Amino acid sequence: MTTVAVVPGDGVGPEVIDQALRVLDSLGLGLSFDVLDQINAERFRRTGVAMSHEEMVRISSARRVLLGAIGDPRVQQTGYARNVLLRLRFELDLYVNHRPAVLLDDRLSPLRDPARRSIDCVVVRENTEGAYIGSGGVLRSGTPQEIAIDNDISTRHGVSRVLGYAFSVARRSVCMVDKSNAVPFGGGLWQQCWADARSAHPGLASSHLYVDAAAMKLIQDPTAFDVIVTNNSYGDILSDVTSQLAGGLGTAASANLNPEQGVGLFEPVHGSAPDIAGQGIANPVGAVLSAALMLDHLGRGAEGDALRGAVRKAVSARRCTPDLGGQLGTEDAGAAIAAEVQ
Ligand code: ATP
Ligand code: MG
Repeated sequence: MTTVAVVPGDGVGPEVIDQALRVLDSLGLGLSFDVLDQINAERFRRTGVAMSHEEMVRISSARRVLLGAIGDPRVQQTGYARNVLLRLRFELDLYVNHRPAVLLDDRLSPLRDPARRSIDCVVVRENTEGAYIGSGGVLRSGTPQEIAIDNDISTRHGVSRVLGYAFSVARRSVCMVDKSNAVPFGGGLWQQCWADARSAHPGLASSHLYVDAAAMKLIQDPTAFDVIVTNNSYGDILSDVTSQLAGGLGTAASANLNPEQGVGLFEPVHGSAPDIAGQGIANPVGAVLSAALMLDHLGRGAEGDALRGAVRKAVSARRCTPDLGGQLGTEDAGAAIAAEVQ
């Protein structure tokens, strides 16, 4: 039997994960779930433990994790979220962050021109390097001459493998996004690895954009994109743009992957949303679509497609939460999707 570790986490995390599990149950796949509901900000506040060694072992042996959200305004800047999310990302070497954006219903697009609304693309974000690795420091702290430094690291190994993944999931084309005109060293390495990756995949169309042009073009005509591959920080930003073009943060799903090792962490893109936690109105679609990505990863792509189809039907019929123009609470929205699966 396939075991999946489940970390509901904080805020709306447990609310949306409950619905993802309900929808998965409705498929009758016989998955078994190892629920780690002690990993949360409450326990961290009580004990100072973000994630225990035993929990880390349970997660790494399951090899697949479905995660709700980690974060709480009361424990900001304590290292809590870093010690859960970033630890999982680095210890499991989850170098790919795969973020699809598919418009669920025409009414959800913020764009005027109907011919350019149907976004269906994937942002492949490098997940273990770049400007987010927390390397750097402050010189002459507190003085008028203070200097803050964040190192932005790219390695040939890291860039090549994420570009390879992008080509492996492309249906039509890959667009590489960097800022090599202004960030010469890292940009130069991305350009070299890009040239190699393109010549290794002559069958797919490929293009390059600077990140500012990519942001503009995404708004102008998102239908032009299939796979966008880029570094950690540009991927963070561009995937927020694509999530808005596809229906909003509540619908965005992600997979953190190490494809060679068959390890994956699947989570909605949104955070713990403390402003609406406990109200029963959080949108479960991002969590359900993350579960669908997990099914793809488990080799159950047909069932993943069934979940995506069910979400689309429920949302089109406005059987969804208020952020998507519906009137249902989280549980009823989850039940509406589960009913479409059957
Ligand atoms: P964190 O620090 O954990 O990232 P956050 O404060 O950044 O949390 P987000 O979760 O990123 O909060 O949410 C940003 C905004 O989007 C909030 O106004 C929130 O209510 C809204 N939002 C997030 N997730 C959902 C959801 N599932 N359904 C509806 N609205 C959501
Ligand atoms: Mg956030």
